[in-house]
Amino acid sequence: MPYCDLHLHSVFSDGTDTPERIARLAVDAGLSAAILTDHDTMDGVPRFLAAARTLGLRAMPGLELSADVPGRTVHLLCYGCDAAEPRMADALRRLREGRTERNDEIFRKLARLGCPVTREEAATEAGGDVVGRPHIAAALVRRGFAADKADAFRRFLARGAPAYAERFRLSPETAIEVARGAGGMVALAHPATTGYNVAELERFVSRLADAGLEGLECLYSGHLPRQVEEYVGLAHKFGLVITGGTDYHGTNKPNIRIGVAYGGLHVRDEAFDEIAARLARRNQTFPDEPPAEAGASGEVGADSLTRPR
Ligand code: AMP
Ligand code: FE
Ligand code: FE
Ligand code: ZN
Repeated sequence: MPYCDLHLHSVFSDGTDTPERIARLAVDAGLSAAILTDHDTMDGVPRFLAAARTLGLRAMPGLELSADVPGRTVHLLCYGCDAAEPRMADALRRLREGRTERNDEIFRKLARLGCPVTREEAATEAGGDVVGRPHIAAALVRRGFAADKADAFRRFLARGAPAYAERFRLSPETAIEVARGAGGMVALAHPATTGYNVAELERFVSRLADAGLEGLECLYSGHLPRQVEEYVGLAHKFGLVITGGTDYHGTNKPNIRIGVAYGGLHVRDEAFDEIAARLARRNQTFPDEPPAEAGASGEVGADSLTRPR
């Protein structure tokens, strides 16, 4: 079936499924292509690509970067990046360290508030390497400091709540530059969650397009039909690829099924093809193909042509 899902989370960030199980679920949902896009890490990508290859599912490396726009949630989906490219590897390392430091600050604040959950308790909830606020929320619930995860966010962890702490993020411009330098392309994820109104979003997309943004996640779980229309219009206006995905997180977002965006809408796999074609035009290769000749690229450095495996 000609559908894909370009926005998926595993246990390597805040999802509850392994990369292997996600590849299996994507095939079972009848998808021809899927991309794992864990938050701020590409550590699950090799396992996802290996599983996809075994199952005959088309895939490429993916990543969802949280960008630094004060007071707003701006996520950038990075497709086709080489995690080993030096600037990308450095950025991923700094994001990992920044998350650990931020978490420690949250634990300190929680202790001061009389809710001393530990780093170990949150790590147990995570199951993978990345510990995030949802895991800290789960630990708070387990210890009886909150009724449920939503309560834990409302009372402690949400932006503006007393145990909230900022973590290191790249500016959107830097994130785009790093992703492109690592051989990838960037799409703005779930534009609705930026909280911008129509005019503000247009200015923001224009600014990011100038910085090298190439896609807009128009199709997304939770986007209303009129929002999809608005975003498709923006994509056309700025020559961006119309991308889409569900933001599947396993049981952490229980209402989302792989491959099915809002109202049962599916993302045609032309979105995947268009991303692959854009990257191929820059003489990129994918893990299933032989490496490109060094020096064959245009604007990106020759060392970014080497792909993982
Ligand atoms: P982190 O990357 O550790 O800051 O955690 C971000 C994740 O926390 C997001 O992907 C959401 O899944 C979750 N999250 C953020 N804000 C809230 C909220 N107000 N209520 C519930 N979950 C939230
Ligand atoms: Fe998430
Ligand atoms: Fe996101
Ligand atoms: Zn996501």
